[in-house]
Amino acid sequence: MSAHENEIGFDPDALRQKYKAERDKRVRADGNDQYREVVGDFAYFVDDPYIETALQRGPIDDAIDVVIIGGGFGGMLAAARLREAGIHDFRIIEKGGDFGGTWYWNRYPGASCDIESYVYFPLLEKTKFTPQHKYTNAAETLNYCHVIAQNYELYANALMQTEVVGTDWDEDSQRWLVRTDRGDAIRARFVVHSNGPLNRPKLPAISGINSFKGHTFHTSRWDYGYTGGDSDGGLDGLKDKRVAVIGTGATAVQCVPHLGASAAQLYVFQRTPSSIDLRNNQPTDPDWMAAQKPGWHDTRRRNFESLLAGVPVKKDLVNDGWTEAFRLLFGSVREKAPSKLRIAFWALQGLARRDFYRKGAKKYLTEKAMRYMQFDKEMELADFRKMEAIRARVDQLVEDGDTAEALKPYYRQFCKRPCFHDEYLQTFNRDNVALVDTGGRGVSEINAKGIVLDGKVYEVDCIIFATGFEVGTDYARRAGYQIHGVGGQSISQKWADGVATFHGMHVKNFPNAFFFGPTQSAFTATYTYALDEQSIHLAHILKTAMARDATRIEANEAAEQKWVQTIIEKARQTEAFQEQCTPGYYNNEGHVNRLRQNTFYGGGPIEFFDLMKKWRSNTKLAGLDIS
Ligand code: NDP
Repeated sequence: MSAHENEIGFDPDALRQKYKAERDKRVRADGNDQYREVVGDFAYFVDDPYIETALQRGPIDDAIDVVIIGGGFGGMLAAARLREAGIHDFRIIEKGGDFGGTWYWNRYPGASCDIESYVYFPLLEKTKFTPQHKYTNAAETLNYCHVIAQNYELYANALMQTEVVGTDWDEDSQRWLVRTDRGDAIRARFVVHSNGPLNRPKLPAISGINSFKGHTFHTSRWDYGYTGGDSDGGLDGLKDKRVAVIGTGATAVQCVPHLGASAAQLYVFQRTPSSIDLRNNQPTDPDWMAAQKPGWHDTRRRNFESLLAGVPVKKDLVNDGWTEAFRLLFGSVREKAPSKLRIAFWALQGLARRDFYRKGAKKYLTEKAMRYMQFDKEMELADFRKMEAIRARVDQLVEDGDTAEALKPYYRQFCKRPCFHDEYLQTFNRDNVALVDTGGRGVSEINAKGIVLDGKVYEVDCIIFATGFEVGTDYARRAGYQIHGVGGQSISQKWADGVATFHGMHVKNFPNAFFFGPTQSAFTATYTYALDEQSIHLAHILKTAMARDATRIEANEAAEQKWVQTIIEKARQTEAFQEQCTPGYYNNEGHVNRLRQNTFYGGGPIEFFDLMKKWRSNTKLAGLDIS
């Protein structure tokens, strides 16, 4: 080791090579196509196990101002903001049995949210709700969804247990026909598509899945009838069962400790380890909550997302594992980087490359660019330090040396969703729990008795798929319905060669349709924050348009093209970072460049929110054709 390496305690070059080797062995040519669509023989994986009484009703045939598709946080926030804007003629259509979306489906044992609840729960100042802990669990979050629904009287406007099967634009009536699986035909002036970015469970295309004779389900449809217990654990139905979990992402990290505590034998099949930091949950101090001044909630979530986006803040209000990496970084580079460069962040490598091509090598190698590069190196060093600490934590907590080694993540912290848990790693010290590391290859064969790896059959009674959700596949496939716009063009046809929107929300030839989600919009760790901002934006546009008696709101073609160019330009800022990441849904399974515009706004959420706020301050609704 050099003197510098001795000082920092690791060799950056060796780590860089290790990260690259780990990434290279995981990148697959088939990318997203490695996963199997949950239809046909596999459709039972998405059956609703939570409905107690099936709804009986006849079809509805009527007209309404607004249909909101999806009763998760996005749909609820859209409805709440519409109510606040004085728009009440809306209907929310939800396939589940109640509000909740993600939190309706994901009730697996241990499910909880690792974004601080005081930031994650939207509308907190309106509902005056006090979460019990700094990090809430699934049961409380689902309950909070009901609190919002009751506060804003949303049940009266809801059609539950109803799945949209298609929406078709009718030019003559200037309305959408919304069709459902219950034979409803609802003619709506406006339709909000809020069907969730992680809504469609995905299965790896493992040969022989359907030949397995035991029990099987996906984590987002937890079968408590089989396992016993509830989201707090106590899975007594598993006490004589051999169980396999496939996947070690954020979901598995939370349910594995409960499975380990209850099952006779647990095998955890791992392709890539998650980074597991300290959880350190704390009860809420009600006095602290009561002492917060009006506007605190927005200030707090903006403070949190600002830190994550590299926007300087005076104080780290949330002060947890998410913000620590960024605090460390700013602390370490404050002396060396010019202050305004602190604002940049994820972007810097890409910016430098763009300058290189635009200005030529000579100008590129100015002192300023050298500082950029210095800053970027410091960022990488801070990340190495953080991940070294994460890996050291594995050694401290896991007794078996080989198991500990296999559980160490070798990639930059934000290449994958960071995880925080105080019992996951220790679960591997149990005699009844075994980590089956697949060396980055993943599980590829199942037979009647269990999982086959390297010629060995792991015989089990139950296989649980903790394999996540579709991202980056065709929009209609994920939504579960097709959208036909002007002239019958489908949204799949429109976006066949790349997503095109204005602000992520409006689409040319799809008038009066509003799209929620991170694509060509803001990507936040606090997903509810982005949804709330979209709801505020939606309510502003609808209120303004309705006040003008407008019947048609549509993205202007030139504005849409310009926005796509903006997304492509901004995507370059994060591209270099993503390219060196291990594959996952954050970087299109390692195929970063495939469709550069099918991504989020690369300038970061705070920049995006400010841009939208500025746009709203001009009453012209520039970029939209309104008639
Ligand atoms: P993920 O997509 O994050 O994880 C899927 C897991 O399945 C990965 O470990 C993946 O490995 C693995 N996998 C896929 N195919 C195979 C295979 N053939 N063999 C073995 N393993 C395989 O899904 P999750 O449900 O865990 O999480 C989804 C998202 O939901 C999170 O990123 C987060 O945004 C959110 N979430 C948040 C939580 C929180 O707040 N704590 C909790 C749970 C979810 P590989 O990494 O190699 O692809």
